[in-house]
Amino acid sequence: MSKVLIIGAGGVGSVVAHKCAQVPEVFSDICLASRTVSKCEDIAAQIKRPIRTEQVDADNVPQLVALIRDFKPELVINVALPYQDLHIMDACLETGVDYLDTANYEPPDEAKFCYKWQWDYQQRFKEKGIMALLGSGFDPGVTNVFTAWARKKHFDEIHTLDIIDCNAGDHGQPFATNFNPEINIREVTQRGKFYENGQWRETDPLSVCKTFDFPEGIGPKKIYLLYHEELESIVTHMPEIKKGRFWMTFSDNYLNHLNVLQGIGMTSIEPINYQGQEIIPLQFLKAVLPDPGSLGPLTKGRTCIGCLIKGTKDGKDKSYYIYNICDHEECYREVKSQAVSYTTGVPAMIGAMMMLTGKWRGEGVFNMEQFDPEPFMEKLNIHGLPWVEYDGDLSGIDL
Ligand code: NDP
Repeated sequence: MSKVLIIGAGGVGSVVAHKCAQVPEVFSDICLASRTVSKCEDIAAQIKRPIRTEQVDADNVPQLVALIRDFKPELVINVALPYQDLHIMDACLETGVDYLDTANYEPPDEAKFCYKWQWDYQQRFKEKGIMALLGSGFDPGVTNVFTAWARKKHFDEIHTLDIIDCNAGDHGQPFATNFNPEINIREVTQRGKFYENGQWRETDPLSVCKTFDFPEGIGPKKIYLLYHEELESIVTHMPEIKKGRFWMTFSDNYLNHLNVLQGIGMTSIEPINYQGQEIIPLQFLKAVLPDPGSLGPLTKGRTCIGCLIKGTKDGKDKSYYIYNICDHEECYREVKSQAVSYTTGVPAMIGAMMMLTGKWRGEGVFNMEQFDPEPFMEKLNIHGLPWVEYDGDLSGIDL
């Protein structure tokens, strides 16, 4: 029986609130706080259990501290934006409360994805006797747990890891992103990067493309190499990995729109002066794009996110693929959100459950692959993200 404070009432925050509310034996009291309190109230109105709602500016540490002292949660689940991570971690340190998030810190003025800023809290969290669990979404999150599971159950050594994220859904809009547009476009337009033999290698944005034949009728789709933050933590904690890459599908339509927007400067995060006011083009673009929350009732099709892993077992080479398939319309029926928010919000709830039930405990700052994957994998099957594994002949797949 635990009190949990959820910060951020966007697409993911809504799923986290719904899913925590489904497990009252763990989450006995829930408070949902965000910048715009009416969004918290709208979500609370969809949920049968009573949920406290609050307004909070998560960049304001004293405000956060006051809210935490008033509500007295055992855990803060941060599903606001990556810009807020360090402020919320500071408030947790001041109040001695555990912390969980789904995305690593990014400085607002630089699209840079790395764990350094949050790993730097290790000593302070340890001294305070509290725990931070970083990246408890799907990717990062479940993909880290899939890798740890493969290492525990199927391999003696992992040599290559390819994380492959496919959204085969269609929202019928000319151009929209499935989660926060600003964060999504910053991620996609950065230079690509992958890990090989102890070094990071960079590529031009979206310049490496292959085709991958997705299972269960989804079929072949183009996948593009991107940098994704879980590569950094996984190769740090599993140094045996020789090559680690992350791939994502994009439709030609999405990429054509993105090319044009980039070409005319609309994806820039450099401030410009517009009619006497400083604006950031990417933030303006976010304001005119569809709100990802509004795509829920429109999106059809499925996501398929998984890990293709090669290595050795009992002295023999082995290949293995593990994935989850999630249906946008089924998610909407259950929690009024599409599958991208669902696949992030469910693992955030399960990560919180791991911490609050003592299955995953520690003092300091942790990534998902550092814990025993078994209890988490079991809960994925129960709470809406069942997984499938395949270790037959994968020799035809050459990424
Ligand atoms: P949204 O933009 O839909 O929601 C973000 C919410 O945070 C909004 O309600 C927003 O408030 C609130 N917020 C922003 N700034 C503040 C602030 N200063 N104080 C309080 N609240 C604030 O984003 P998503 O729900 O799509 O994404 C949430 C997080 O999940 C992001 O960090 C994203 O990177 C991460 N994510 C992780 C994935 C994974 O698999 N690991 C996949 C997808 C997303 P307002 O409504 O007022 O704007």
